[in-house]
Amino acid sequence: MPITVSLLAYLVSSVCCIMALRGLSGPETARGGLLFGIIGMALAVLTTLMLPGVQSYGLIALGIAIGGLIGAVIAKKIEMTALPQLVAAFHSLVGLAAVLIAAAAFKNPEAYGISEGNGGEIHLGSLIEMSLGVAIGAVTFTGSLIAFGKLQGIVTGKPVVFRGQHFLNALLGLGLVALIVLLCLSGSPLFFWSIIGVSLLLGILMIIPIGGADMPVIVSMLNSYSGWAAAGIGFTLQNNLLIIVGALVGASGAILSYIMCKGMNRSFFNVILGGFGGETATAAAGAQGDRHVKVGSAEDAAFILKNASSVIIVPGYGMAVAQAQHALREMADHLKSEGVKVRYAIHPVAGRMPGHMNVLLAEASVPYEDVLELEEINRDFSQTDVAFVIGANDITNPAAKKDPSSPIYGMPVFDVESAGTVLFIKRSLGSGYAGIDNELFFYDNTMMLLGDAKKMCEGIIKAFEH
Ligand code: NDP
Repeated sequence: MPITVSLLAYLVSSVCCIMALRGLSGPETARGGLLFGIIGMALAVLTTLMLPGVQSYGLIALGIAIGGLIGAVIAKKIEMTALPQLVAAFHSLVGLAAVLIAAAAFKNPEAYGISEGNGGEIHLGSLIEMSLGVAIGAVTFTGSLIAFGKLQGIVTGKPVVFRGQHFLNALLGLGLVALIVLLCLSGSPLFFWSIIGVSLLLGILMIIPIGGADMPVIVSMLNSYSGWAAAGIGFTLQNNLLIIVGALVGASGAILSYIMCKGMNRSFFNVILGGFGGETATAAAGAQGDRHVKVGSAEDAAFILKNASSVIIVPGYGMAVAQAQHALREMADHLKSEGVKVRYAIHPVAGRMPGHMNVLLAEASVPYEDVLELEEINRDFSQTDVAFVIGANDITNPAAKKDPSSPIYGMPVFDVESAGTVLFIKRSLGSGYAGIDNELFFYDNTMMLLGDAKKMCEGIIKAFEH
């Protein structure tokens, strides 16, 4: 394929990737966005296969067949609640690919056109790009593996902290910079392999102090790293598409991490420095004291809901765990058919990843126009009869507004308590992700519906029918 045609194809493919990101930013346009993504990536792969220099089509076909099969099986089987660890596992592969490509280019620079003739030295520019790509790639590889292990429960989800940890990390970071400079000055393989070794270690040490619950932010950050690693390797391979797509992934991952931190009112450094979530449940343990909790049944909830004229549903992580979205939609449809105004309120960090609730509600065919963001709906709770909180906890906790000593103080939360009645489905009076007590359980206008979210919704539907 002539080089100008391949450049044009790569340009079209890049535009498709940009359109994909644009489409994926809203539920109505997400399908279109995915289609653009598929077309863009298919065009990119086909164009690359038609470039001169491909050594073995057989091996490539075998790789595509094996990878495609594994991908298809995983996509079919994966539980929605396991998406964060799946993403982490995939990022580790991007990091590994960046390391392997850089190693191949370092071993055989002539083949990649990055050295002065046959057997000559690698260009300084290529050494810089390569060393940055390989360092970020190796950090992404081991960091993502640890994130995967924590989310999957293979590695402890608690922060692993030890004395001098930040000092050691800073030392390794400085050592890495020194090694990159030495590699660029000498081109010695010793420094190249040392960069990989130190970066692999740094990836592990950077992620182990971070609590399992903060992992989604870290996964998004590692997503960003994998993009920058790909962009770095794109420079080495002089591949414009890799540079553009890598930069898109790098920038979007960074923006997502920022949005998540903002939604939790945490600074990015606070997340990176770790330790949050380690001391969970101390506050929650003694939470109940002699305070009175009103506990109701599915029948009580059905009665209150049927007599309401407006209901706002606030879904959270527990809804995802219980897979209650279908039963919830059925319950809401029932209410709507009786003339009750039903809307869903989505917090930016409800669940364990941005968009978690939107995806689940879309899967249950909840109309998009019924689903509103925090800023769009928060004011409406005061004119609403029932706030129906299902498997959510932290995102409703008034301590975020009232208690400056609370770890979540300043996090924007739903004003559910200003609704006429708050119905709260969860299995116990235990805490949520932040590990802190929620005084909302003890408010006069709160009724706790203790039980599994799906079973409780099914119970409410049954009670409607009687
Ligand atoms: P929380 O983690 O605060 O609370 C979830 C509640 O669901 C728990 O208290 C639990 O209570 C209940 N639950 C669990 N399983 C079930 C079940 N089967 N049936 C009924 N209830 C169940 O979730 P929220 O969505 O309110 O808040 C999200 C939290 O995650 C925030 O603190 C946020 O900062 C954090 N976070 C979110 C990220 C994101 O991007 N979305 C990223 C990183 C962190 P019980 O055990 O009593 O049933």
